[in-house]
Amino acid sequence: MKNRTFSPALENIRMSPIVSISEEARGRAADFERAGKRFVFFQRGEIDLPTPAYIVDALQEGLARGLTKYPKSGGEDFFKDAVIGKLRRDHGVTDVAREHVVATYGGQEGLELSFKLFTRGAGFSPTWSCALENFVPYAGIDFAEVPLNADFTVDYDRVESAVRGRDFFYLNNPQNPTGKVFTEEELRRLVEICTRAGAVVIADEAYEKIVYDGRRHFSLAQIPQENVVTVFTLSKTYAMTGWRVGYSVTRDAHVARLLRLGNYTQTAGVATFLQYAAAAALDRVAESEKAITGMLEEFTRRRDALFEGLSDIPGVRLDRPHGPFYMFPNFSERIPAALAGEDRRKYIYNLLLEYGIATVYGSCFGHHFDDNVRLSFSATPVPVIEEAADRFRKALA
Ligand code: PMP
Repeated sequence: MKNRTFSPALENIRMSPIVSISEEARGRAADFERAGKRFVFFQRGEIDLPTPAYIVDALQEGLARGLTKYPKSGGEDFFKDAVIGKLRRDHGVTDVAREHVVATYGGQEGLELSFKLFTRGAGFSPTWSCALENFVPYAGIDFAEVPLNADFTVDYDRVESAVRGRDFFYLNNPQNPTGKVFTEEELRRLVEICTRAGAVVIADEAYEKIVYDGRRHFSLAQIPQENVVTVFTLSKTYAMTGWRVGYSVTRDAHVARLLRLGNYTQTAGVATFLQYAAAAALDRVAESEKAITGMLEEFTRRRDALFEGLSDIPGVRLDRPHGPFYMFPNFSERIPAALAGEDRRKYIYNLLLEYGIATVYGSCFGHHFDDNVRLSFSATPVPVIEEAADRFRKALA
């Protein structure tokens, strides 16, 4: 056979371990179901709520209007105007123009293109696994992980030294997997550090609307600087994960142009009828707010049920998260001290699997939180969470 060399951009991509975890979970679930018992899927970030009907209707309308031709490079004007309106309403931003907005296939494409702008970057650990497994190798990035402190606060000195001599800092807020919502003060300080170092901030705000307890998300799009690229998606806000629609915003017109060229090269733009439905999702404020409020009420109930269920288990360290639908408890006190390596990394994960609960072990999110596991309550109604909490207690008795 001919000896071919494939591009490292694709050869070095790894499939997230979450995919193989999900496969393992499905196998275990079948065993549980055969025995008449429920299996609890806490491993995936998929939302079990439907896309609001007004958005589905808008999609039909877009198709009926014949919006089936090649899209305009970088996004349709009506879509960009909807984004500009949303930035004004939600964040008081008034200086973003059409040339600063790029329509993308989900947050995923916005991030992938943003990473591809550069070769040297840094970001917090733990972090969304896709950044490490997919964007970093695909874009050929030399990436430094900056650990958060154990209580998920920021060590600014570490950020400062990591970002020195690097092109960008990846900042996901609200954060997957910790559930952390950065404060405005933390965010401003981080942007200042990056600006001093001459680095761009790639702000991943996929979960901008999933914040609890009356908190408000502070978007980095509110900081009128050219060294900020803010990546948004409709996936989480409107339970539209399968639609693949998002957008990126930057006041640096050159960077916006590069993102547009990258998007054109890869996909030649987001399908026009999808942009039409996405514009309606953003523009129709009353319906949008109603849908988001309903979703947040449900997620708040789930968060509280899970937190109450786990918080009194000895040796489990966790705080009530203020955002997303993730918790990232620490089990250091419950893992036998002698365990190391793979056995240690998977100890809690394997233990919980025995009890019919799928989670994601901490090492999927970087190198610094091996004793944590991520629990997602995006697809588990409260009664399921209550049952799962009982099993946690038994598993850790
Ligand atoms: N950022 C984070 C932190 C995520 O968890 C996800 C999806 N799980 C995304 C971005 C991208 O989402 P999408 O491509 O569906 O818009």
